[in-house]
Amino acid sequence: MKSLYLNKISKSFGKTEVLKNITLELQQDELLVVLGPSGCGKSTMLRLIAGLEDLSSGGIFLHDNRIDELEPKDRNVAMVFQNYSLYPHMTVEKNLGFPLKIAKEKKEIIKEKVAATAETLGLTDKLSSKPSELSGGQRQRVALGRAIIRKPDIFLLDEPLSNLDADLRQRMRTEIVRIQKDLQTTTIHVTHDQAEALSMADRILLLNEGEIIQLGTPEELYKKPNSLFAATFIGFPKMNIINAKIENNYLMPFGIPIESFYIEEGSDLQVGIRPEDISLHHDGQYQAKVTASEYFGEQYIITLDYNNIELKVSGCQHHKNISEAVAFSVNKSSMHFFNKQTGMRIG
Ligand code: ADP
Ligand code: MG
Repeated sequence: MKSLYLNKISKSFGKTEVLKNITLELQQDELLVVLGPSGCGKSTMLRLIAGLEDLSSGGIFLHDNRIDELEPKDRNVAMVFQNYSLYPHMTVEKNLGFPLKIAKEKKEIIKEKVAATAETLGLTDKLSSKPSELSGGQRQRVALGRAIIRKPDIFLLDEPLSNLDADLRQRMRTEIVRIQKDLQTTTIHVTHDQAEALSMADRILLLNEGEIIQLGTPEELYKKPNSLFAATFIGFPKMNIINAKIENNYLMPFGIPIESFYIEEGSDLQVGIRPEDISLHHDGQYQAKVTASEYFGEQYIITLDYNNIELKVSGCQHHKNISEAVAFSVNKSSMHFFNKQTGMRIG
């Protein structure tokens, strides 16, 4: 079922257009992750949906009703911010119940819902604590609880995990997904962290400079990035990008025969190869020198110099010495091709 619909929305601050003609449709039970570099317009997009900013043009619809002219309090949208924004003088119980109190719910109902929400988020034994007595993760949980307690139509989560340490961030990702699947509430989760986006999203909306670059499932964005931007923004280590050419039906510098049905002879292109699609072995087709070997516990990431081209190789099981000569091979079918001028995917 269709839930939120953004119809050609744009937003300018003065002369600067920070969101450009965004059209997007979300399903009722969907978790969309908006991913993009700092300053690309992610928070602005959420603030427009929440009603904290006015649109410059376009319309926002919820279940086919136009909401962009409504006051924020009439939109039934809940937003969670990076810095928690809890009331420091109130206990967890009071913080959780606050949205219901504002909505003039009965005392008994507030107590009931606070207890249920605290249970869902594992905060039952913290109800009488003040925010200052909680860890970062617990505070963020209270902030989430305050958003879910009044059963909004939409959750907007603006980088809610970026103040947490790595371990907790990992656990909260799983938890947010679990809660979202449980409540089946349309959720937009904003992050600049590609790993977070890949691990949490039903679909990812990749934004850059206020424009949609690509919208699709994590697998679609990872396996078929539509542009150099998408190819290099998603994935760790970054996709290797190599200047290439088709010469006499061979892809240079790799010397791979190409039935060039969609790439013109002589045209400049860039070839993308993910680090896991390069393998080091004795009978590899190409010779290179090792320039770095980094240990990550479960793997080594090896950097190679192949004819002055830097290539990262992941998934290696053994350390390599700097300057060591190695052979590697590349699977042609895992290569991505991009037009060098436009940066767009070919084929
Ligand atoms: P993100 O959340 O992706 O980091 P933002 O949506 O916060 O990006 O900001 C997008 C752009 O809009 C930035 O260039 C920012 O400086 C600008 N911007 C955001 N809010 C305002 C505002 N109230 N006035 C002027 N410029 C703003
Ligand atoms: Mg932001």
